[in-house]
Amino acid sequence: MGSFGNPDIVEVQSDILIIGGGMAACGCAFELMRWLPEGVTVRLVDKAAMERSGAVAQGLSAINTYLGEQDPADYVRMVSNDLMGIVRDDLIYDVGRHVDNSVQLFEEWGLPIWKQPGDEEKSLKAGGKPVRSGKWQIMINGESYKTIVAEAAKKALGMDRIQERIFIVKLLLDANESNRIAGAVGFSNREDKIYVFKANAILCVAGGAVNVFRPRSVLGIRCGMPVPPTPWWRRSAVS
Ligand SMILES: Cc1cc2nc3c(=O)[nH]c(=O)nc-3n(C[C@H](O)[C@H](O)[C@H](O)COP(=O)(O)OP(=O)(O)OC[C@H]3O[C@@H](n4cnc5c(N)ncnc54)[C@H](O)[C@@H]3O)c2cc1C
Repeated sequence: MGSFGNPDIVEVQSDILIIGGGMAACGCAFELMRWLPEGVTVRLVDKAAMERSGAVAQGLSAINTYLGEQDPADYVRMVSNDLMGIVRDDLIYDVGRHVDNSVQLFEEWGLPIWKQPGDEEKSLKAGGKPVRSGKWQIMINGESYKTIVAEAAKKALGMDRIQERIFIVKLLLDANESNRIAGAVGFSNREDKIYVFKANAILCVAGGAVNVFRPRSVLGIRCGMPVPPTPWWRRSAVS
């Protein structure tokens, strides 16, 4: 088993902590900096390098949702139908009415988006019609998708607020409020250092697979949250 030796313990305090550097984290960083009152401190921590981290690392060939001239209410119906009605209509409606603005920003930042013949030079914002590969999906040349979005987030946040190559393994509960998360612990995967991040508000956007939030599998990382019992088909495998 590997060991850390005697790592330095580094404590970092901020008002807001963003865990993850993927699409959600980049979007949050960009928006946050537009609304943040002066004096509020922010830190973003990613286990990898933001430029190519997360599910979009290798790029994508399409963007799953762009409404264009379609009605957000139809979008709600589609999602609700897809998920057997177990949804929050209001939240989906909000996604539907705001998503185009984000996609238009991606194009502004340099993401090439396929257009209908005759509209090639027209941006989405200016009413250019995208090429669709489904009712809601539009086609892109997205090899550099993540690089483009990360660049915007880095520019908005500034590299002095970003720490890459730190793997968060545990969320910390507040000493006084039992249901409140007050920090996170992670290790550097480049240096012999353990980081203790303390924050007033934490956005945990570490993607769907790593289970740094509530684990869905007994093999996931435990984060001070109840772990479900080992299912019978795994009991012999994990002892
Ligand atoms: C194969 C595939 C194809 C897809 N195709 C499309 C498509 O064509 N169109 C489309 O719109 N969407 C597509 N998606 C979906 C889209 O990629 C995801 O919805 C989106 O990337 C999710 O963003 P996220 O920020 O939630 O997670 P991610 O982008 O996965 O980001 C997670 C971030 O958290 C960091 N992280 C993880 N664990 C830790 C930790 N313990 N400590 C610190 N940091 C951590 C990671 O390094 C990463 O930066 C696809 C997804 C996959 C997997």
